[in-house]
Parts: sequence; C-alpha cells; structure tokens
Amino acid sequence: MLTPGTLYVVATPIGNLEDMTPRGLRILSEVDLIAAEDTRHSGKLLRHFGIHTRTEAIHEHNERSQVPKLVEFLKAGKSIAFVTDAGTPLVSDPGFHLVRASRQAGVRVVPVPGACAAIAALSAAGLPSDRFVFEGFPPAKSAPRRAAFEKLREENRTLIFYESPHRILESLRDMSEIFGPDREAVLARELTKHFETFRSGTLAALRDWLVRETEQQLGEFVILIQGLPRTAQDAAEEEARRVLKILIDELPISQAVSLAAQITGIKKNKIYDYALSLKEEG
Ligand code: SAM
Repeated sequence: MLTPGTLYVVATPIGNLEDMTPRGLRILSEVDLIAAEDTRHSGKLLRHFGIHTRTEAIHEHNERSQVPKLVEFLKAGKSIAFVTDAGTPLVSDPGFHLVRASRQAGVRVVPVPGACAAIAALSAAGLPSDRFVFEGFPPAKSAPRRAAFEKLREENRTLIFYESPHRILESLRDMSEIFGPDREAVLARELTKHFETFRSGTLAALRDWLVRETEQQLGEFVILIQGLPRTAQDAAEEEARRVLKILIDELPISQAVSLAAQITGIKKNKIYDYALSLKEEG
C-alpha cells in the first residue's frame, strides 16, 4: 500500500532491465504521477513493464520551476515517483531540488533503492571498498579538471568518477599525469550490459589499452582509482592533529604544541604548523 502525499525516489536499471526491483515496479504502477528526467526514455521502461501511470518531465533545466507545482501536488495528498534515465536519482542526476523542497515542506520522501553505476563498479572492481569518495563527472575542460585532480592527489580512499566516452582518453591522460602513471585503477565499462568489461591496471596502462582497443572507448564508464596508501606516518600525523585540537582549546598554543608532540611523537614544528592553520580556520 502506498502512503498518500509521499515522494518516492525510485532507482531504475543501468542497462539490464532485470535490475528493476519488484518494489520499484509496484510503486511506479501505484503512484498518481511519475516525474521523469526524460519521459520518452522512461516511457520505454514503463512500456516494457506494462505500467501506464501518467508521466511528467522534470529535468535539469525545468527542475526549479516545476518543483513548487509538484510539492503542492504532494501536499494535496497525491503520491509521486521520481525517476531519472538510469540508476539512482540525484547521483550525478537531477532531483536534488525536488527532494530538498519536499522535505522542507514536510513531505515524506522515501528511497526505493536499486542500481547505481558507482556502487556496482565498486562492488566488483577489487579495489579497497571500506572507504571511498564519489566525485561524479570530472570537469569537462582540462585546466579545471587537472585542478580538481590535484586536490585529490593525496586522498587515501578509493576515488570513483563517472566519465563520458568522448572524454575518457583526455581524462585518463590528466589522471595519469596528476595521480602518477603507476597508480592502480580500474575501468568499469558497460556495467550490467552485454559488453560489460572490468579492466585493472596502472593509469598509464589503462590509457594505452584504450588507445589500442578503440572499440573499448565506446559506452559508459566508471573510473576507480586506488587511494594513496596510508603510511604509519600519515596515521601518526592524523592522531597528532586530533590531540592538538583537544589541547588547544584548554591551553596556550606553545604548551598545547609541546604536549601534543610528546604524546604522539610527531615533531614540534610540524604540530606548530597545524596549530597555525587551526587558528587561521578560526
Ligand atoms: N544516476 C546514475 C547512477 O546511479 O549511476 C548515474 C547517472 S550519470 C548521468 C551517467 C553516468 O553514469 C555515465 O556517464 C557513466 O559514467 C555512469 N554509468 C551509468 N550507467 C553505467 C553503466 N551501465 N556502466 C558504466 N557506467 C555507467
């Protein structure tokens, strides 16, 4: 049974229609309205499953103007399912304004989970998966893209990116130059589809492989990059920052720095630098 006045955020398949969940199908057929990123695209999915619910377009360009109308509809007790073209809405997809405005208006918002390319890729890539950072699409132009990668160079967690086929080579080139050609990575291509491919290797080797195997440049990609391995020194420095943060609230800077150095074994001048940056942050 559906709860009236609820917004359901429904994940749809990223290639294989069998990944549509039974719960998602039931909700799509029972709601008063399906708000879809692209009604023609979602129409195919709905026809395949024999769903005849009314659809309305809500995409990047009209999301803000459509939202008040949809929120009123929800507040009047109607139910809406929101879907995007593929995968989980709001993950590099529209929907944020709708969900935010619905919550602010006191409307119940319910996730109906299912496929998500980033998570599917992570679950089978064989890279550390206990902690990861989802970065979505890198910037389209090289200079801001390189700047974005620079900021992530020291990241210890596995990095996950989406990339379109016409930028995959350029992105891999910039990744190789900034994260280093020897950094381990995985390309997850055409997930859940006929030509699904996982390829592991260094960033340089992956790029060379794509240059050679031109047919592999087509389709949809998730790029996963192993984080910079965390050394014992990294862990000790992190601990020193934690200790300093506690002490600095209670003691004069020089005493806090001196005690943090004694407790953690990290050099005083390094801790003093942290203390200064903490002060700057206010
Ligand atoms: N909301 C979607 C999700 O949950 O994954 C992502 C939407 S985003 C507009 C589309 C991007 O997701 C593609 O350019 C690609 O990077 C990635 N993607 C989607 N489907 C994929 C698939 N079957 N295989 C690999 N990557 C995919």
